[in-house]
Amino acid sequence: MAHDPDCIFCKIIDGDIPSFKVFEDEKTLTFMDISPVNPGHVLVIPKYHAPDLMQIPTDWLMATVATAQTVAQAVDKALKPDGINILQSNGPAAGQSVFHLHVHIIPRTAGDKLAFDWGIAPGDMDAIGAVAERIRASVV
Ligand code: AMP
Ligand code: ZN
Repeated sequence: MAHDPDCIFCKIIDGDIPSFKVFEDEKTLTFMDISPVNPGHVLVIPKYHAPDLMQIPTDWLMATVATAQTVAQAVDKALKPDGINILQSNGPAAGQSVFHLHVHIIPRTAGDKLAFDWGIAPGDMDAIGAVAERIRASVV
């Protein structure tokens, strides 16, 4: 399984740095974004180090997309947002800052006027942990 010891998301997979996990299966891991753009912002990653969509083997991408659907369903059930954005960035010019493929799941509220300004301010860890528990309990 491809792995990069210097990659922050590989370290999360290994448990070497902490995360608020909400779902895990053989090929994927889902955890809370540490700087949420809205409450309930989660990241789905493959347990395979590939920098972006172009470089990941298709079976790992398919597993990641399937988990994104499972977790989006959980977010929908747990938080009842007005909408959900699924976002995935490739390359610095596209706003990618962590070079281990990941899919953002972002709950939306009607009229929230969200502008995507990634990773500027760390979130409130108690609030992130509490919403993680709600989503975790809604995974089917
Ligand atoms: P991107 O800009 O698409 O590469 O997104 C990277 C995301 O990873 C940003 O939204 C960051 O807030 C998030 N992030 C970076 N480090 C961590 C971490 N240790 N735990 C959780 N999320 C992280
Ligand atoms: Zn990695």
